[in-house]
Amino acid sequence: MLLEVRDLHVEFRTRDGIARAVNGVSYGVDAGETLAVLGESGSGKSVTAQAVMGILDIPPGRITGGEVIFQGRDLLKLKEEERRRVRGAEMAMIFQDALSSLNPVISVGDQLAEMFTVHRGMSRKDARARAVELMDRVRIPAARERVRQYPHQFSGGMRQRIMIAMALALEPALIIADEPTTALDVTVQAQVMELLAELQRELRMGLILITHDLGVVADVADRIAVMYAGRIVESAPVHDIYKAPAHPYTRGLLDSIPRLDQKGQELYAIKGLPPSLTHIPPGCAFHPRCPLARDVCRTDEPPLYEVSATRGSACHFWRECLNG
Ligand code: SF4
Ligand code: MG
Repeated sequence: MLLEVRDLHVEFRTRDGIARAVNGVSYGVDAGETLAVLGESGSGKSVTAQAVMGILDIPPGRITGGEVIFQGRDLLKLKEEERRRVRGAEMAMIFQDALSSLNPVISVGDQLAEMFTVHRGMSRKDARARAVELMDRVRIPAARERVRQYPHQFSGGMRQRIMIAMALALEPALIIADEPTTALDVTVQAQVMELLAELQRELRMGLILITHDLGVVADVADRIAVMYAGRIVESAPVHDIYKAPAHPYTRGLLDSIPRLDQKGQELYAIKGLPPSLTHIPPGCAFHPRCPLARDVCRTDEPPLYEVSATRGSACHFWRECLNG
């Protein structure tokens, strides 16, 4: 395994009390593999990724347990300086909002070139040439001219390509993309996602793709981990999930995807809202919203049951769910 997160716990102190943002998350990703982490906002998917990257805001965020094993060592035990080196060269993150991640007053070429001068000790001239190559690689037309332009001179989709170029610059072993296409138009979304998937395959990187949209992961992910209230509620190969979900929450997410053959029909949406992380319901955290809930769900927290060798579900009634 390239990356293995084991039993991770993260808490935040808030005015309402302790928010338990991540409650025992375990997942892994191999080189050349894409893991999609799916869930509504507040499910803990971004916080888990930030803990992996070592960019959790401290305070208020605090890792209270677990391990993050990356290429054989536990990142949580490294000193901040070593951590920074790993973050710079071996893992990279792509965020939703390129405009706020890029420096507005430095040309994109200079920002890309800086990756090579700072981390690889290249001359400015060589670094510039590499910047143009990278822009070509993420298919920005007329890279040689556009390398001198500033972030605001690019469209949203092109800016997101620049973010991908920045993340790829040092050929990291792992990329974490947090809602990389959420801010884009649907057609541009598909193009950017395709590009990211293609480069990931070519470079045999591990990719963790964080999204709230099950619709975008079908073609690119190998596995899906579904998060709810800071836990993984279902983890499975992507085709298993599409064939038949083994958790009612996954089923709700699947039924919320717009389908071409159902045009005009009202979409099923999961009723209610995700719980506050300071007041997670007892038993199964999903029970207030679950159409299959019964008494035991209100008192007994479901473990991650083994559905198959490669699949787990945190639902007492996963068999029932699976059989639809
Ligand atoms: Fe629903 Fe109960 Fe399964 Fe939770 S354990 S998802 S409440 S059926
Ligand atoms: Mg988020």
